Amino acid sequence: MTELYIGSHLSTAGGWNALLERSHEEGGTAFAFFPRSPYGKRSKALAPAGAAAFGARLKAEGYGPLVVHAPYVYNLAGKDEAKRAFAIEALAEDIELLTAIRAAGQEVYINIHPGAHVGQGAETGCRLISEGLNQVFERADGVMVLLETMVGKGTECGRNFDELATIMDGVENKANVGVTFDTCHVLDAGYDLENDYDGVMRQLDEVIGLARVKAIHVNDSQFGLGSHKDRHANIGEGQLGIPFFTRLVNDPTMAKLPMILETKEQTPTTHRDEIALLRGLVD
Ligand code: FE
Ligand code: FE
Ligand code: ZN
Repeated sequence: MTELYIGSHLSTAGGWNALLERSHEEGGTAFAFFPRSPYGKRSKALAPAGAAAFGARLKAEGYGPLVVHAPYVYNLAGKDEAKRAFAIEALAEDIELLTAIRAAGQEVYINIHPGAHVGQGAETGCRLISEGLNQVFERADGVMVLLETMVGKGTECGRNFDELATIMDGVENKANVGVTFDTCHVLDAGYDLENDYDGVMRQLDEVIGLARVKAIHVNDSQFGLGSHKDRHANIGEGQLGIPFFTRLVNDPTMAKLPMILETKEQTPTTHRDEIALLRGLVD
C-alpha cells in the first residue's frame, strides 16, 4: 500500500510559507487550514498573490490534496438572508483564492459544515444548502466543495448520509460537490464504526457512493455511538480506538484519501506523534 496523505489542521499565522514549515515539522503530506478568521474576515497572511507559488511547492514536494476548512460562521441553511448572502459570497471568494493553488497542479478541496436549519426543518435546510451552493458555483467553480458529515447536534443538517445525499442531489453540477468523512462525527451520528466497520462502509457506498467521498477527518471520539456530542479525542484515546484506525488505514478505498487530524494538541509534538502512530498502523 502507498503512503498515507496525512497531516493536521494548521495555523495560517505567518502566511503560506509558515504553513508549509509547520507541515514539515509535523512530518505531514497533507493538511488543512482556515482561509479566513473564524468570523469570516479574510486572512491578510494568505495573500492571493502567493497562492500559485504555494501550490507549485506543494505539488513539487508530492503533497496529497489539501482539505481547507471553511469558517464555521457560514450557514447556507440559515433564515437570515443577509447572512446567507454573506456565506455565498465569501465561499465563492475562498474558491477563487484556492483556484490558484489548483491551477498550479496541486489538488485542493474546501470542506464546509453544511449548515443549521435553525428550526425551519431538515428538509428546508437541505434545500437551502443546495440552492446556496448552486449560487456559489455560478460565481466560482474551480474547486470542489466537500460537505462534512455532522453529528446532528442542535439543528445541524448533514446529520446522516441520507441528508448529505439529498443536498448533493440538489446541486446542479455534481462535479462540484463531495463529502468529508469525519470519523468522530460519523460515530456520534449513530453509525457503529467501532463494531460494524464494513456495514457502515456499505451504507456509505449505497447512500452517497464511495467515489464521492474525497477526504477524511481522523478524530477519535470522547463519547460513544449516537451521542451527538462532537467532542474529539486524541487518536486511540476515545471510543473508536486503535482497532478502528487500523481498519481505516488498511482499507484500500479510504487510505487513498487525504486524512486530516483535528485532535487537540496536548504537547507540541501531539500531531507529529499521531501522524507517526497512524502510519505505523499500515500493514
Ligand atoms: Fe469541521
Ligand atoms: Fe471535522
Ligand atoms: Zn467535530
